[in-house]
Amino acid sequence: MPLKLFDLSGKVAIVTGCNTGLGQGMAVALAQAGADIVGVNRTAAVATAAEVSALGRRFHEIRAELTNMARLPTVMEEACQTFGRIDILVNNAGIIRRADALDFSEQDWDAVINLNLKAVFFLSQAAARRFIAQQSPGKIINIASMLSFQGGVRVPSYTASKSAVLGLTRLLACEWAAHRINVNAIAPGYMVTNNTATLRDDAKRSAEILGRIPANRWGTPDDLAGPVVFLASAASDYVNGYTLAVDGGWLAR
Ligand code: NAD
Repeated sequence: MPLKLFDLSGKVAIVTGCNTGLGQGMAVALAQAGADIVGVNRTAAVATAAEVSALGRRFHEIRAELTNMARLPTVMEEACQTFGRIDILVNNAGIIRRADALDFSEQDWDAVINLNLKAVFFLSQAAARRFIAQQSPGKIINIASMLSFQGGVRVPSYTASKSAVLGLTRLLACEWAAHRINVNAIAPGYMVTNNTATLRDDAKRSAEILGRIPANRWGTPDDLAGPVVFLASAASDYVNGYTLAVDGGWLAR
């Protein structure tokens, strides 16, 4: 098996929201496979920068509020000026707001949709324009969710955004495959990060969730290492528009 297919040496990857959690795990995994990393964060990604540098890869930090759409093309511009090119975009940054649908506020609707969906589209658009201008292939990896497939409870804007990410991933693949751009998504199961702290603090919900995971454990950021390198590399060149669940078997249940 030619492991070279998974080699990302000489590639440049943008990872949004990589100062913690799944984004941090994926940025480090891409660096382990050989990529230089542009981290797009609201606060300094100190630990991620240190881990990437320790691997001998370059790390460039861009501070950005991703719900400011006017900022997105300038993020892409700075990334390209820094490392000369862009090959991979991981749209990871995302938030969740919890309240009963009957009480859910417009503010919580807009905050989640703007980051989890609108910013994903416009950053992908900026990346695709760059890939085409570079005349090189590109890989876009969106971070979806179990709630791209299921309804969930008390997270209406999150479910709407992540279900839309699955559909958008398909549409962008259809439009851009001819440009040698792959647009795929990873749907993590229940993972130990800040995003699930509230769930894990709720003993009843936490036990219910664990009891349904065939792997009998919550996932960790390391569990996304293989899938993200696969989708970022030549190994997945003919995989397009697909949302890959990385869920310890949750959806199979
Ligand atoms: P996290 O809260 O640890 O990380 C979220 C990241 O997004 C952080 O780096 C944060 O700074 C960044 N971010 C938030 N708002 C931002 C903004 N306005 N501009 C720029 N950056 C912003 O959570 P996580 O679990 O690592 O989440 C990463 C992604 O994975 C999210 O899209 C989340 O929806 C998704 N996800 C997580 C789980 C899980 O179980 N943890 C499951 C499915 C999907």
